[in-house]
Amino acid sequence: MDVENQKVVNRGSGAYPYRRSLWLVFLVIVCSLAVQQPPVFGQQDRPENEVTKLADDVYLFRHQFHQAIFITTPKGAIVTDPISADAAAWLKAEIKKYSDQPVRYVIYSHHHNDHITGGSVFADTATFVSHAAARPKILQAGDSQTPVPDLTFTDRMFIDLGGKHVELIYTGRNHSDNSLVVLLPENKLLFAVDFIPVETVAYRTMRSDYPDDWIESLKQVEQLDFEALVPGHGRVGKKEHARMFRGYLEDLRAAVNEHVQKGASLEEVKKTVQLPKYEQWQRYADWFPENVEGMYRYLSQQREGVR
Ligand SMILES: [Zn+2]
Repeated sequence: MDVENQKVVNRGSGAYPYRRSLWLVFLVIVCSLAVQQPPVFGQQDRPENEVTKLADDVYLFRHQFHQAIFITTPKGAIVTDPISADAAAWLKAEIKKYSDQPVRYVIYSHHHNDHITGGSVFADTATFVSHAAARPKILQAGDSQTPVPDLTFTDRMFIDLGGKHVELIYTGRNHSDNSLVVLLPENKLLFAVDFIPVETVAYRTMRSDYPDDWIESLKQVEQLDFEALVPGHGRVGKKEHARMFRGYLEDLRAAVNEHVQKGASLEEVKKTVQLPKYEQWQRYADWFPENVEGMYRYLSQQREGVR
């Protein structure tokens, strides 16, 4: 899940004293090779926090395995998922290197707390935004580090700040019932979290997901005008990856459904169903059987009229 082939514009301190000797060896090798390009960091060596430029005034923020974007403008910054208390505190200090303006908006991609915790550090200057269906869930969770959204919307919302135009779009239920996408039309860039993995299978048993709506949601995403796809985990992709992931869900659904209709057991289905077309994708080896399980449960419930 590396963010590869991108220019590293800033690295966090991420100081691990026990790794210092390794770093020294690494640096000596890098220096002795007189490398012109910025070094590519392996997963073990990457700093905990990292900011990478995506376009003018548009940046990718990575904290461990989670990612968000932020946009700077002369009237303030727009931040998406704060990720965690530690991540947000680091980001708040880091943004000062890119802008002398405060954070004016924090946009929650969906209600899952592994993406949206920590926004309280921006509460002194920011308005918090989410899809309408996320708000009651955030309210109910009652985490003091996660401010309840001030502004919500159901279909589309525009934020115009300091000459930047940002569109928030709801494309229906998918990985949650409140996932929004952030579209930057000027940059033809789309930020989408947890529902369009780039050449990666779905997360584990898809517990909170709505597979049939998800397929329809991806068709809507495919209608949007963008080129770069920035996910909440893993490498940056292209528009093409939305169609590829829809194809994966459709193939998974069809393969599992064939057995569900015959009344096969979960054990049989997990043993039988394979999708070799996707075995080169990330996490196929460990998460694909769980994807099969999730799809089996969903389709079985559908067959019994529960969903
Ligand atoms: Zn999620």
